[in-house]
Formats: sequence, structure tokens, C-alpha cells
Amino acid sequence: EIEKLQDLKLTPTKTVDDVAIELLANIELPEDATHAVDLGAIGVGLFRSEFLFMDRNQALPDEERQYQEYRQVVDLMHGLPVNIRTIDVGADKALGAGSDLSKTGTSPLGLRAIRWSLTEPEIFLTQLRAILRASAYGQARIMIPMLAHVKEIDETLRLIEKAKQQLLQRGQAFNPNIQVGAMIEIPAAALVLPLFINRFDFLSIGTNDLIQYTLAIDRSDHAVAHLYDPFHPAILNLLYNIINQAKRANIPVAVCGEMAGDPTMTKLLLGLGLTDFSMHFSQLLLVKREILKANVAALKSRIPALLMAIEPQDQAIALENLMA
Ligand code: PEP
Ligand code: MG
Repeated sequence: EIEKLQDLKLTPTKTVDDVAIELLANIELPEDATHAVDLGAIGVGLFRSEFLFMDRNQALPDEERQYQEYRQVVDLMHGLPVNIRTIDVGADKALGAGSDLSKTGTSPLGLRAIRWSLTEPEIFLTQLRAILRASAYGQARIMIPMLAHVKEIDETLRLIEKAKQQLLQRGQAFNPNIQVGAMIEIPAAALVLPLFINRFDFLSIGTNDLIQYTLAIDRSDHAVAHLYDPFHPAILNLLYNIINQAKRANIPVAVCGEMAGDPTMTKLLLGLGLTDFSMHFSQLLLVKREILKANVAALKSRIPALLMAIEPQDQAIALENLMA
């Protein structure tokens, strides 16, 4: 079985009806990129940069140190895209005890991700310059977590321009046309998608948080874990709307939450119109095997019934038809 999976590494990722699918990797450490390439990923869809900042008792890594780490991933990916997500701390992602960033809270509704970065512009600019410097050597791209407000978007884009100006003044190389993407992981963002489509080069749906915030389920609270339901009709309708609005606007859209790496969800996501999947590298071939067996046109024809099914028994039938 394992050997057969390994044989899929070089097989083009296409459905039975010839729809090309892009498989990307989620990584946490620069070395993970080696596995991503080896398993046939065509890029890094999510580099969780906060792992460079966590579990550290000393100060945050400086610009040079961050640049080295981003550069390593870019080099290992040999020109393939690398979405470097800016630091996502707070809530479930705590920083090292000695790092004195006590302003980040543990509430998922509190100061986390881009909200925190915008309160620490010097730390944010340092990270942006490090990513920009790596972009001189490959396809490093900037990806922003947890955006919901147009003011946050504008401030973020202003700081990216400022980081570029700082590098220009220093005479340091970067790609002036670096792509900038937004994670769609707050329901409010999904409901005003044109704001994002007009301002970003690509979108990536963070289903882990999108589910948490849509269903009001703290993703780290075991007491409500049984209510954390990716099949909730509200989630399925939201995903369908995000993916199809983005497709109509011709802006690339991926899913980089756990759903994308779950082979039991592959048919569902293909039916919803998804073509770009980003997942932990260990899942790449398992999901690919499902894609190679799938017929997208047939799956799509069964989606309207699923989206309309609100009663559990109706949804069960619609899901069974889809998975058949
Ligand atoms: C997500 O929210 O789905 C996601 C990919 O990011 P994280 O799990 O790191 O919050
Ligand atoms: Mg998230």
C-alpha cells in the first residue's frame, strides 16, 4: 500500500475528467520543504512562520536570522511559490515564556495574528523586510492571517510599501512585485469578499479558524469539540460562496486548513469548486489518490442538493450521493 502511494509522486494531479488540481504543502520548519518537494508539492501554500518565534526563551529572531530561514525555504523550493504567513500569535499559539510579548492573550477573539502585528509595527516591518529580501531569490510571497476590517487591510498594505522603501534606501534587493495574499478565516471577511479580491493577489481559506468563528466554537476547548463540525450547512455554504466568488473574479483561492488534507473531504471540496489544496506534506499522496479517482463534473452536479439540505437526514442523503 505504502509503495503504491509512493508511485503516485510523479503522476500528474488531474481528475478523471481532466481537471488539473494544485497540491501545495503546509510547513512549520524550513527543513519540511524538502519533504514537500520530494512528495510532489508544487509549492508551499502555508509556512507557519510563528514556529520560528515560538518555543524560544530569548528575544525574537532578528531580521538577518529570519531572512536566513525564509531564504532556506525559498532555496529548497527551487523557484516554486512559498507563501510565508506573517506571525500568527495569540489564542492557541503562545510565544516562548521569555519573549515578553505579554500583550497577546489566550482568547481566540483577542489580540492575535495581524491584529497583534499591527500593534507592533517595528516587529512586523522586520518580518516584512526579511520576507522581501528572500523574494530576491525565488517566489517568496506574503500571506496575512486573520484580516477582517478594511482599515487593517489598508494599514497592512501601507506597511508592506514602507518595508519596500526601507530596503530601497538600504540598497538591498527584493522583488518589487512580490505577491501578497490574505487568509479568509473570519466569517466577516468571507461576507465582504470583494474587499479582498480587489486588494490581494491570492486568497487562502483557513478552515480551522473559519469553522471556529462561524460556529462560535473555541478550537482549543475540549468541552465543545463535539460541536466543531466541518459539515455544518453554514460552513458548506460559506465555502461554496468564497470559492466561487473568487473563481468568478479570477483570483487564485486555496484551502489551507485541515479539511484540505483530509482524504475523506477531498470529493466534497472538489465538488465545491476547489482546485488548490494546501496540506501537511504527510497527507499529499493520500489526497492525490482521491483526486485521481474523482470526476469533478459529476461531483459538482450533486452540490446544489447538498447546499440546500438543512435537515440532518436530508444532508446525510445528499452527502452519501456525493461520496458514492
Ligand atoms: C486555519 O485557520 O485554517 C489555518 C490554516 O491556520 P492555523 O491553523 O495556523 O490557524
Ligand atoms: Mg488560522
